Amino acid sequence: MENLSNPSVIKDLLSRHGFSFSKALGQNFLINPSVCPRIAEMGGAQPGYGVLEIGLGIGVLTAELCKRADKVVGIEIDRRLLPILEETVGEFSNLKIVNADVLKVDLKRILAEEFAGLETAVCANLPYYITSPIIMNLLEQKLPIRSITVMVQKEAAQRICALPGSREVGAVSIAVRYYSQPRVLFSVSRGSFLPSPDVDSCVIRLDIRREPPVSLADEKQFFRVVRGAFSQRRKTLSNCLSSSLSLPKAEVNALLERAGVPSAARAEQLSLQQFADIANAF
Ligand code: SAM
Repeated sequence: MENLSNPSVIKDLLSRHGFSFSKALGQNFLINPSVCPRIAEMGGAQPGYGVLEIGLGIGVLTAELCKRADKVVGIEIDRRLLPILEETVGEFSNLKIVNADVLKVDLKRILAEEFAGLETAVCANLPYYITSPIIMNLLEQKLPIRSITVMVQKEAAQRICALPGSREVGAVSIAVRYYSQPRVLFSVSRGSFLPSPDVDSCVIRLDIRREPPVSLADEKQFFRVVRGAFSQRRKTLSNCLSSSLSLPKAEVNALLERAGVPSAARAEQLSLQQFADIANAF
C-alpha cells in the first residue's frame, strides 16, 4: 500500500481519479503520519472490536483501523471516493464500505448485522459542518457502542467537553455528559490536513456511560429544560425557561423553588443534577 500521508502521493492519486476536494462535505484529509495510528490506538481499535468509521476520505485512518480491529465498517457519502478507496484499502478483507449519509443510514441495523459478537467503537475524523448532529445522533440512538473517538474543530472540542459550571458549557456539553464521559485526547494543528483548514483541531474521546449519571422521571423533559435554559445566554434561568417552555414566570419560579435552584441563576452555573432536579420538578 502506498504512503497515504504523503501529499505528492495523494495529489497523484486524486488527479488520476479526477477528484477535487468538496468544501461543502468537509473534505480535509489527514496528512500527518502520526495522527491516524494514535486515533486508532486511543480509540480502542483492537482484537475483539468492530469499529465504525464515519467519512473515509482516501482511507488513511481506515487502514490503521483495519490493521488493528476485527472488522471495520466505513460510512462515506461521496461516491467519487469509492474507486479511490478500492485502490487504497481494497486489500483489507475485514472492511465494509457503505456509501451513505451517516445521518440517514440505519446505524442500529448495520451494527447488529456487521458487529455481532464484537464490542463496538466509533473512530473518525469528522466532517466539521455536521460535528454536533453526528455526535448527538450516535448518542441519542443509544447504540451499543463503548466509545466515540473523533477529530473535531478545537472550539467544538472545548464546547463538547466543557464541565458544567464553566464558561464554555452549552446544551451540547450537558447532553454529551449525560450520555458519556468526554475528554480531550490531543491537539492537531491545521497543517496536518490537505487542504489545510482555517482552524486547529482536537481528538476527543467519549466513553459511553452504562447507566445515566442522574435519575430522570422523563428524559425528554430533561432535554427540553436543558435546551430552554441555554436558549438565551445572557438571560436568567427563569426568563429563558419561561419563554422557551411558554410558561408564566410565576409558574417557572415556583418550579425552580421546588427544585432548589435560584431563579436568578444562569444555565452555565448549573450542575447536571440541578438540570435533572428542575426537569423532575415538573
Ligand atoms: N477520514 C479521512 C481523513 O482523515 O483523511 C477523511 C476525513 S474528512 C474530514 C471527512 C469525510 O467525511 C470526507 O471524506 C467526506 O466526504 C465525508 N462526509 C461528509 N459528510 C458526510 C456524511 N453526511 N456522511 C458520511 N460521510 C460524510
